[in-house]
Amino acid sequence: MTKTSTRRQVIAGNWKLHNTLAQSTELARTLHERTLKTTAEVVVAPVFTALTTVADTLRGSHVALSAQDVYFQDKGAFTGQVSAPLLADVGCTYCIVGHSERRQFFGETDETVRKKVRALLAAGIAPILCIGESLEQRDQGATVGVSVGQLAAGLAGIETSALAKLVIAYEPVWAIGTGKTATPDDAQSVHAAIRAYLKYERGDAFAASTRVLYGGSVKADNAKELLGQPDIDGALVGGASLVADQFVAIVAAAR
Ligand code: PEP
Repeated sequence: MTKTSTRRQVIAGNWKLHNTLAQSTELARTLHERTLKTTAEVVVAPVFTALTTVADTLRGSHVALSAQDVYFQDKGAFTGQVSAPLLADVGCTYCIVGHSERRQFFGETDETVRKKVRALLAAGIAPILCIGESLEQRDQGATVGVSVGQLAAGLAGIETSALAKLVIAYEPVWAIGTGKTATPDDAQSVHAAIRAYLKYERGDAFAASTRVLYGGSVKADNAKELLGQPDIDGALVGGASLVADQFVAIVAAAR
């Protein structure tokens, strides 16, 4: 639907439950040094325990820091949780929300996702809101319905004016960590449907400015074609983000 030139692409690495402090520091330093010339926004999401160390490594760098999850309450008797103000305090400017692994393994619901989105926005952090269908849902032809449904539920009741920092990541669950990727055409058509929904629900300007990333087995060898699609505004990268050569090549493939 739209031309993408006004949307700066984002390449975000989700390190998941990987990397010691030393490995995180080393990877962050390498990625900083090897992506200096990019015009894309580069983001890394280490484990909670490495956020401070990586924040120190990246201070003053063009590489932004993200968390992988957040709790929606700011503070209190919530043992084991980390809040949005604390993520901001450590230097996070992004946070992944509603990742399919959290939905699948940790009881994340559309309602908790919405609360987390609200908490992040209130703390000035950009949510990377993950949506996407399972293989079964895809086989039933429910790809767009499920994805847009998750998006609508995750943003329900939040004013459009509060959503300027929102980033959406369309991640078909069947493509995450499996080596299977949506074809660029298939991914583009879902992204176009997401953008059409944003336009209908939130207006032209919001739809034209909001970044929609693709995630699901993005690698050096498929990044160029995926990132060349008009409605794909970047990538959320899991496995390949742990390998500097791979991630650097994906960043280099960004427009
Ligand atoms: C992810 O976890 O968000 C992801 C896209 O993983 P992978 O790139 O490994 O499929």
